[in-house]
Amino acid sequence: MSSQLIQDTFRMNKLPHIWCPGCGHGILMRGIAQAIQNLGLDKDKVCVVSGIGCSSRAPGYMDFNTLHTTHGRALAFATGVKLARPELTVIVITGDGDASAIGGNHLIHAARRNIDITTIVFNNNIYGMTGGQYSPATPTGDLGTTAPYGNIDRPFDICNLGAAAGATYVARSTAYHVNPLIKYIQKGIENKGFSLIEGISSCPTYYGRKNKKGDSVNMLKWQKDHAVDVKRAEKLTEEQLEGKFLIGEFVSTTSPEYTEEYQKIIDRLSKER
Ligand code: SF4
Ligand code: MG
Repeated sequence: MSSQLIQDTFRMNKLPHIWCPGCGHGILMRGIAQAIQNLGLDKDKVCVVSGIGCSSRAPGYMDFNTLHTTHGRALAFATGVKLARPELTVIVITGDGDASAIGGNHLIHAARRNIDITTIVFNNNIYGMTGGQYSPATPTGDLGTTAPYGNIDRPFDICNLGAAAGATYVARSTAYHVNPLIKYIQKGIENKGFSLIEGISSCPTYYGRKNKKGDSVNMLKWQKDHAVDVKRAEKLTEEQLEGKFLIGEFVSTTSPEYTEEYQKIIDRLSKER
């Protein structure tokens, strides 16, 4: 990370961070900072909101308006911020458990409303902060503290979930694929509506260790070797895609935005009075 980017976007008195050595979350947080800087946004006009979990520590290190809220509720707080101050760029940082388990309802309804919030899900396939319990994103058969004989649940595809619920921009990248990640975050912020960007992260301490995924370098290499861009995937057979996962842009569309619709009602009622 360039020292200028650190000076410009991080709270120096809060660093170093508490993430484990090799955790992918720092790479994703840096991607968000880079995207904000690339867009030339005024720091005072950016609000970053998180819930609870390893990923949700990120706003504490970032020098914007920040809120570290309660488990699964980042989107509820962010919705309030956006409705009260629609001119702000509102960004939510959340984890796979925070976003799709406890906060699952907030996620689908924020997407359904198409409220202008950019949500970045740091997906490490597990609850890291509380000790490696399986989450709705843990692959079937994988191990977690609460699944010592293998997870029997079917995982959510978080991008599909957001797309089905009505998000108008949906993309996935990984901690390895940083440049596309930054591009997707920028496009998500520019989208006038609900944007969901899934960043595949790595948790070497719990998910990696429990599932024998090797060290942090091996986990990033796994992302490199198993991610297939959605456009390239169209040309591949089912056999060639076996064991792979898709990255890229899945949804990019337009739909009325919630705070604008809300403002129209306020304007109409004020004229009628
Ligand atoms: Fe990262 Fe996992 Fe450590 Fe949490 S427990 S900081 S997700 S490596
Ligand atoms: Mg997680």
